[in-house]
Amino acid sequence: MSFVIAAPDAVTIPVKGNKGVFPVRRVYCIGRNYAAHAREMGHDPDRDPPFFFCKPADAIRVAVQDQTLDIPYPPQTSDLHYEVEMVVAIGKGGANIAVSDAMEHVWGYALGLDLTRRDRQQDMKDLARPWELGKAFDASAPIGALVPVTDAPDMSDAAISLQRNGQPRQQGTTSQMIWTVAESISYLSAYFRLKPGDLLFTGTPEGVGPAERGDVLDAALAGVGTLSIRLV
Ligand code: MN
Repeated sequence: MSFVIAAPDAVTIPVKGNKGVFPVRRVYCIGRNYAAHAREMGHDPDRDPPFFFCKPADAIRVAVQDQTLDIPYPPQTSDLHYEVEMVVAIGKGGANIAVSDAMEHVWGYALGLDLTRRDRQQDMKDLARPWELGKAFDASAPIGALVPVTDAPDMSDAAISLQRNGQPRQQGTTSQMIWTVAESISYLSAYFRLKPGDLLFTGTPEGVGPAERGDVLDAALAGVGTLSIRLV
């Protein structure tokens, strides 16, 4: 049977070292997973259980190592925020995954940005509406190449940072996560059957803030690589 309209392009992320490409199925994101970021957003990090939202797979934009990727400043916002995040790629599916088994489901790691229309997200919070307008817009998920777990160091205490126009803005380590990668995968898999190709953005450390058209955002995740975008 032939497609009746043009089929959308497959979304893929290159694997570091020219080892092929990783096909993306879904993009899950965890909210407020670093205590200091939860506090800067006005929440009590000790009380809130993990929660998740999604971005469409085609919100992914792949940034090549050592090149600055142009990302369009999105419409319908005057308060675009950066959030630097470690991204976990799922290589083995499952539901109701035990915390003790969860890391077997991880295929690799990447560095990503959860770009956010903070003003629209706040509108949605105020109205108790879903967050898509704030989180799920086109090109809202720049990402660098994937590093397979077999090539990656232990990522449980990896330095993660972001600079805006050369000025340090976010600095942290993945050990500051409230919910570990294993706990997040386990929790998420109770609600959704995870499948190969799923990505999980694991939350952002403190220091989120606005970026303007023309800004360059440089991010780094120890053991994985760097990511550079320019808002145009
Ligand atoms: Mn985020």
